[in-house]
Amino acid sequence: MDDKEIDYDALKKRGFLKQKQDGYFLLRTRTTEGNYSADQFEILVEVARSFGRDIIHPTTRQGIEIPFILFRDIDEVERIVLKADIAIGTSGPRLRSTTVCPGNNWCKTGLVDTFGLFKRIETELGIRCSYDLPHKFKITISGCSNRCTRAESSEIGIHGAVDTTHPEKRIGYIVYIGGCGGRTPHFGMKLEKVFTEDEVLGIIERTVAFFKKNAKPRQRLALLIEEVGKEKFLEEIKIPKKDNT
Ligand code: SF4
Repeated sequence: MDDKEIDYDALKKRGFLKQKQDGYFLLRTRTTEGNYSADQFEILVEVARSFGRDIIHPTTRQGIEIPFILFRDIDEVERIVLKADIAIGTSGPRLRSTTVCPGNNWCKTGLVDTFGLFKRIETELGIRCSYDLPHKFKITISGCSNRCTRAESSEIGIHGAVDTTHPEKRIGYIVYIGGCGGRTPHFGMKLEKVFTEDEVLGIIERTVAFFKKNAKPRQRLALLIEEVGKEKFLEEIKIPKKDNT
């Protein structure tokens, strides 16, 4: 096929990104609950052996990249990967793959079920990787205040925490909003409350909706907040008030 006839953006959405080397694409996958199964990993190893060059590269967003796939093999690789229930990653102006540490599933300092929250964001809110937005948008979840997935450096960063102001020292979540890395990094603002999981879901839903509606193309959330003003932004996304009941 002529290079000009290839719809690279459509391929990106399917998880196949054009490489620097002419004629080659890399497959990018992602997790759906924070993990891959051993069987899924075996499939990815087989794809790298049969269609790539025996290379498997883990990304910073916990995806897997398999480079050096030929255009003619993309449909077949996609069929194999989807049959194994392996989710596809993406790039471009979309929600990126949410990163998640093990939390209380096995980390000894983990306070919250990070995999469970990840799943609720995808299944209850329908907010999942590849969702079209004006620019890239990242969510991270960590199980405790060590913030191993860098809560402060993503559009929405969440970590487990103990609410020391609550009479029962309830476990909940701290939320950072408006962080990002890249060439003009911003440290996200920390919201002044330890939230319940349901409150966190509401904050995510309203923040993503606000961003989708108001951001200009190629404007990160940090710059949108600077433009509208922090107070107005917080008002718009209706941060739940402090209560100690
Ligand atoms: S953020 Fe906390 S729970 Fe998550 S991996 Fe790091 S230390 Fe463990």
